[in-house]
Amino acid sequence: MRVGKLQADHPHAAELLAFYERVLQLQEPLYGRAAGASWIARAAAGPGGRLDLAQFAGWEINRLFRRFARDVQPAANDVLAPIAERLAAARSPAAELLAAYVDGGALDGPAADLGCEPAPLEFFPRAFLQPLAEAAAEQCGQTDGAPYIPGFPARCPRCGRLPLLDLLQDEPETKGARHLLCALCATAWRFPRAMCPACGETRAAQLRYHETDAWPHLRVEECTSCGTYLKTVDLRTDGLAVPPVDELAAVELDLWAVGQGLGKLQRNLLGL
Ligand SMILES: [Zn+2]
Ligand SMILES: [Zn+2]
Repeated sequence: MRVGKLQADHPHAAELLAFYERVLQLQEPLYGRAAGASWIARAAAGPGGRLDLAQFAGWEINRLFRRFARDVQPAANDVLAPIAERLAAARSPAAELLAAYVDGGALDGPAADLGCEPAPLEFFPRAFLQPLAEAAAEQCGQTDGAPYIPGFPARCPRCGRLPLLDLLQDEPETKGARHLLCALCATAWRFPRAMCPACGETRAAQLRYHETDAWPHLRVEECTSCGTYLKTVDLRTDGLAVPPVDELAAVELDLWAVGQGLGKLQRNLLGL
């Protein structure tokens, strides 16, 4: 529903959103399947309240991964479609790719095996694992109780991955509370309002933001110390926003940021 509204309001992002909608349709049954699976319960029970992503391995998961690649292929663009085809057919490179992504290592090896670039290849394990990691994170219970991971860049207290975006919303105790949203498991965790999540900068003069009329509830939060940005979704301005969908649709903000020479702390699922 959100996709349809954004497609109508921002037609230049329609194609991107149509593909993303298909990905969401394929992620949904994976989430449903994961919710009752034994490997999800094991993944949710990692040490120190963290997810044990290594549980996302094995025969059944590898089979689901190849099927996911096969189902994505017809909707994919010219870059992703041939990779999807190769993954769907290739049992052992697909398994190696999944294992490398779970490990958090570089994807150069699997990319070489599959004859493609590592950057677009990342889409597949990430899109496939998102609903599984999300299901596991939900079984972990209270996110506010998860132990904070010290140091920068800020990392998800559940799975250790980077945040995709910033969220601003009013809470009973705090007006305009800031959370970071994990790019993999969708855990949201509290973060200081005036601090760069990439380097920890807190000097106000170094932290800037950029807005456009087209997206009143979105903005680019930029740190001039480290040259990094993330987008902020302000749920106080648009309570109907679905943050990862809106973040993805606001392509012009990424183009602006790249034009300024900024680097994104974490690219979104479609590599923007
Ligand atoms: Zn996470
Ligand atoms: Zn910074």
